[in-house]
Amino acid sequence: MNRSDILRDIAPVIRDHLVVCNIGLPSQELHMIDDQPTNFYMLGTMGLASSIGLGLALSQPKQVIAIDGDGSVLTNLGTLPTIANNVADNYILLIIDNGSYGSTGDQPTYAGKKTALAAVARACGCDTVVEVAAKDTAQALADALAVRRMTVIVAKCDSGNIKVPVITKDPVVIRDRFMTAVRS
Ligand SMILES: [Mg+2]
Repeated sequence: MNRSDILRDIAPVIRDHLVVCNIGLPSQELHMIDDQPTNFYMLGTMGLASSIGLGLALSQPKQVIAIDGDGSVLTNLGTLPTIANNVADNYILLIIDNGSYGSTGDQPTYAGKKTALAAVARACGCDTVVEVAAKDTAQALADALAVRRMTVIVAKCDSGNIKVPVITKDPVVIRDRFMTAVRS
């Protein structure tokens, strides 16, 4: 299974929740698979989905899922201690770890080599960290939503990209409909 397979699997689980999605192909894939006004797509902020998701969770009561990638978390590694030390039980960080920088051509990341992001998250102080195989991601996400505890999920999957169109919606439109969903 690759990232798009995981996104297809989790789409029914995340549909009714606020979602902040990683820049590039993850956002394009989620937009193609199941575009929702509750989805906030990163269009120019590599590494910041997890940080924006945390801020959103801390500032309002609805459950928030940030869908990030291994490459983006490695780009913004300071996000993990920040998350660990600012607990928001309405926040789930899902790291889809395909061991590659998928959006730029599948160059390998260190997460696919010696660096284990689940272990990094635990070392940073994140209390609830689970690493799952790709096929178990939707269940892990559903479980985390049900217990309403801040959780970092690292979903290991294969690299590889599908052909997807770019997101042509205006960023202002994406922002405005997301903010309406946050306030509804
Ligand atoms: Mg990746």
